[in-house]
Amino acid sequence: MARYTGPVCRLCRTEQKKLMLKGDRCKSDKCPINRKRPAPGKDPKARPGKRSDYGFQLREKQKLKRIYGMQEKQFSLFFDRALRTSGITGENLFILLERRLDNVVYRMRFATSRSQARQIVLHGHVTVNGRRVNVPSFLVKPNDVIEIKEPSKNMVVIKEALKEFGKSGVMPWLQLDPDTMKGTFMAIPRRSDITDLADIKEQMIVELYSK
Ligand code: SF4
Repeated sequence: MARYTGPVCRLCRTEQKKLMLKGDRCKSDKCPINRKRPAPGKDPKARPGKRSDYGFQLREKQKLKRIYGMQEKQFSLFFDRALRTSGITGENLFILLERRLDNVVYRMRFATSRSQARQIVLHGHVTVNGRRVNVPSFLVKPNDVIEIKEPSKNMVVIKEALKEFGKSGVMPWLQLDPDTMKGTFMAIPRRSDITDLADIKEQMIVELYSK
């Protein structure tokens, strides 16, 4: 699957929002958003133009898609699935995105960013219920046990991520034992549980795809 390989900070600057795509750098003073760098190609002194409804909807969709490191085609497939599931489409979309294995690996602090988590999964370092799974879009179910494979537990990149990011704990729907590098996806989260993305207006994304 094709993926974006350009400079990721540029994506944050376009959205003028921290999308947290670069692990520990995102928390440092080196982050261009912290340094108030303007959107690429924009004159910082120019007055902001008026944005259309479509413009706002598009930006919300791009933000969410980029946070989860997805391309348009795959994201729209997730949206279609959310639409076909009973309940509120925007919330269904969030739940599906949160269930992605690369996201769960990131949320369990085995990686400092979702792109690093994706690499860890792709390279076969993760098991789900004891079986190796190397598909980042694999959807995790409640009570699935996610574990770093035995030989991979010595990987510095995973140990460092757990050491650095493990201090802040895991989201309430996850349970993690950092010593055994094993965790459980306890339950499907509610939209209100996904507090770090509370500012994303998923209803705008629904309106965009409904046009
Ligand atoms: Fe975005 Fe992180 Fe780059 Fe800051 S350091 S602009 S949050 S990717």
